[in-house]
Amino acid sequence: MKKGIWLTAILIALAVLLSGCKENNSKETAGSNKSENKAPIVEAEKFVPTVYDSTITVNVEEKTLTGTLKVKSTNNTGKNQDKIYFHVYPNQFREGVDLIGGFWRKIIDENSVPGAMEMTEVQVNGNRGNFEIKETVLEIPLEKWKKGETIDLNFKFTMKVPKNNGRFAYDDNAIWLGNWIPIQAVYDEAGWVTDPYLSMGDPFYSQVGHYTVKVTVPGTYQITSTGKEGEAIKEQDGSKSYTTTIENVRDFAMVIMDQNYEKFSDQIGETTVNTWYLASDSQEAAKQNHEAGIKALSYFSEVYGRYPYPEYDIVWTGMFTAMEFPGLIYLPKNILESNETEIGSVVHETAHQWWYGMVGNNEVKEPWLDEALATYASTRFMLEEFPENGAAIFEMRKQMTEGTERDEKKGIFIGSPVDKFTSIGSYSQLVYQKGALMLENLEKEIGKEKMDQLLHTYFKEYQFDVATSSDFISVFTEELGPGAKEYFEAWLTGKEPEFRQ
Ligand SMILES: [Zn+2]
Repeated sequence: MKKGIWLTAILIALAVLLSGCKENNSKETAGSNKSENKAPIVEAEKFVPTVYDSTITVNVEEKTLTGTLKVKSTNNTGKNQDKIYFHVYPNQFREGVDLIGGFWRKIIDENSVPGAMEMTEVQVNGNRGNFEIKETVLEIPLEKWKKGETIDLNFKFTMKVPKNNGRFAYDDNAIWLGNWIPIQAVYDEAGWVTDPYLSMGDPFYSQVGHYTVKVTVPGTYQITSTGKEGEAIKEQDGSKSYTTTIENVRDFAMVIMDQNYEKFSDQIGETTVNTWYLASDSQEAAKQNHEAGIKALSYFSEVYGRYPYPEYDIVWTGMFTAMEFPGLIYLPKNILESNETEIGSVVHETAHQWWYGMVGNNEVKEPWLDEALATYASTRFMLEEFPENGAAIFEMRKQMTEGTERDEKKGIFIGSPVDKFTSIGSYSQLVYQKGALMLENLEKEIGKEKMDQLLHTYFKEYQFDVATSSDFISVFTEELGPGAKEYFEAWLTGKEPEFRQ
């Protein structure tokens, strides 16, 4: 149908506006330096993922989470440290924080209610420790944390979930917990990276960790999360507990739903795909998104590399937009309410399972690395699965990438960090649309097969790790020669050359 064509194009455009991501890093490093001839002086230090073990009880009336988090962290920084940092993103929504400017108006409205995390105790190796929370960063001084040494931390906390249209909030039927669990900050060549919770983009950066979460909810509630839930265990007081364990993920998201939520569920290879929706919403729209999610997961598994986790959850929440988390994505209510076929978002967020989820990046510093790739990948999927919409999709891309000169004259480019952008319009236009165009133009020159092969190589090399722009470019340069480096560096800084081998 004609309408479908534009709808699809608009949807992709919308999806682009909406998505976010996070990332992480845990390269198994030196091992991938194939051509290193020198004898190793010391054995390459292996990255050891942080282990998180949390037990929480949810009070669905009060919208509070009370519990503990045990963290086992190995000093991977290559030097001795006297501090460690964690992100405590729930604190962004505490009373008195000015959430008016920037993109906050999408998240905060007149019905919003603040929330926060209260850390009541921190133990370091079994002893009560000092700590300080500044904005959304928790700093814990350590007496001595030697290179390679593992420490045990123990947190006790209470969280009040805020009411708003963001990643961590609630409505009448669900509490959706994105970025709730304290995650360790990344230490990279810039030192500890403790960026604030910016309103634009998905201002996250994390390494993969191993998570075990036990959550107790009232008997009539159900949960879904980044992990795969086992059967709930009934507690004596009528509540029930779920325990889930998942390895090699950058974050752990969770949605607590009342009995009005239903799901479609299918087994795809070793992965269960669940789509959770409210029984009062459009089943048809939920089904379409469920099927598109399955198709996209299979497609990207085939082209880029296998989706390795046991479960993938697509969940309707009250967030204003679609959002990616490892193993779980949110879809916004308006897709169901509009009763339209809208699959652009589910495809885009599914692509993020590869670009952000499995291959991480610093989403503040180099947001193009996951957003341009997710946009490019979801367009490729749409073109292959719905080829009749191809012309419309490229027409949309053309229109959306016109008029970027004004930003570029100001020094804002595809490759700019998220805090350079002053409007969601130019962020979307450059990072998502023009970023995807950069990849599509290269694909036209080198062919789909080569493009897929290179992205597969990039995925293999950086899976469960963090990549930078220069890592990405190196993969292409190694195969295509120095022309690839010139090509990407020019596009990322506002020029639009053709690719020359
Ligand atoms: Zn995205």
